[in-house]
Amino acid sequence: DASLATVDPEVSAAIDAELTRQQSTLEMIASENFAPVGVLEAQGSVLTNKYAEGYPGRRYYGGCEHVDVVEELAIKRVTELFGAEHANVQPHSGAQANAAAMAAVLEPGDTIMGLDLAHGGHLTHGMKINFSGRLYNVVAYQVDKESGRIDMGEVERLAREHQPKMIIAGWSAYPRQLDFAEFRRIADAVGAYLLVDMAHFAGLVAAGLHPNPVPHAHLVTTTTHKTLGGPRGGVIMCGQELAKKVNSTVFPGQQGGPLEHVIAAKAVGFKINASEEFRERQQRVLDGARILAERLSAPDCAEAGVKVSSGGTDVHLVLVDMVASELDGKNAEDRLHSIGITVNRNAVPFDPRPPMVTSGLRIGTPALAARGFGTEDFTEVADIIATALQPSFDEATQKALAERVELLARKHPLYPDIR
Ligand code: PLP
Repeated sequence: DASLATVDPEVSAAIDAELTRQQSTLEMIASENFAPVGVLEAQGSVLTNKYAEGYPGRRYYGGCEHVDVVEELAIKRVTELFGAEHANVQPHSGAQANAAAMAAVLEPGDTIMGLDLAHGGHLTHGMKINFSGRLYNVVAYQVDKESGRIDMGEVERLAREHQPKMIIAGWSAYPRQLDFAEFRRIADAVGAYLLVDMAHFAGLVAAGLHPNPVPHAHLVTTTTHKTLGGPRGGVIMCGQELAKKVNSTVFPGQQGGPLEHVIAAKAVGFKINASEEFRERQQRVLDGARILAERLSAPDCAEAGVKVSSGGTDVHLVLVDMVASELDGKNAEDRLHSIGITVNRNAVPFDPRPPMVTSGLRIGTPALAARGFGTEDFTEVADIIATALQPSFDEATQKALAERVELLARKHPLYPDIR
């Protein structure tokens, strides 16, 4: 059979160019990571050919004996990793995991409570035109204006007032840990299910460097490609009492054939997640974020109107607040892009600028930690970013900073054996 380059030179060239982009720039989008070669191999395997509707041992297709092995390994590894009684590893993405976790216990029209999208929540936690906002009655909680942190008193007040059927704890852009026990207490007080969406911080949990929501929540969802650093995909975990409902909601409720090649890659990822090497890498993720938060809190940043939302970070990301800066999120994102650092602009709580512009940046360290970045490298990256956000930024600064970025990229080669 012909290789990709022969069959489709256009797609092949775009993939090559993307590899070069990943190798030559510094990836600091907080939701991104670099999947290990073993994960890429499993995902690119012949398992993509196989239909396997159903679950291991109970399939609607013949020839599933090998994909059964793979799916059982994925389930065993992820339940052991997080101490869960049950896991469904079939959701194609985090959004689908959330859709199924909600549909397993909710009826359309039920009330859900989630963190406001504008305050760091996710689309699937109740955004108006997302399935969650269309199917369910949404009550959003926000962060406190002064502290930048979720105010559990406010969560309880809203829960008692609106009597939700589900409370969602989880975030896409929030730099602090959540109090899962307190969320559960409030959920119990109003008879709600607690869903924790740990998509962002699951890698830290796996490494034992962040509290584990599994003992507290009725349902836990995650993606496998953010801090976990595996293939793109989703997982739902729950206790035995909800296992059947969750499984039947995923299939046949919402999906057809599972992506067994991705499930194989998830299994490989979970094996890596349980290793000492992964734990050490997650420690560098946390150290890097803390170093970045400290540098962006220095006097030169304060003078430029740049500050760190909530005053620091407990996780893998820093939310940079530029409400007081002349530089908006869009321009800051472009400026960093021009020196070879990829981040995304992000609304900060109470953001006065429109969502396409924003006054914030979300900057994460997982992908650089996967490249081998340590304390010294993160100190250099943090200084590069802080310098780029100064009003004095000009063409000469851009050139100098781009050179410093290039040195770091060369110091930590990415995928040296691909191509
Ligand atoms: N949940 C959270 C908290 C997320 O941040 C995201 C992705 O950004 C998702 C769910 C959705 O994951 P996916 O993009 O795989 O649908």
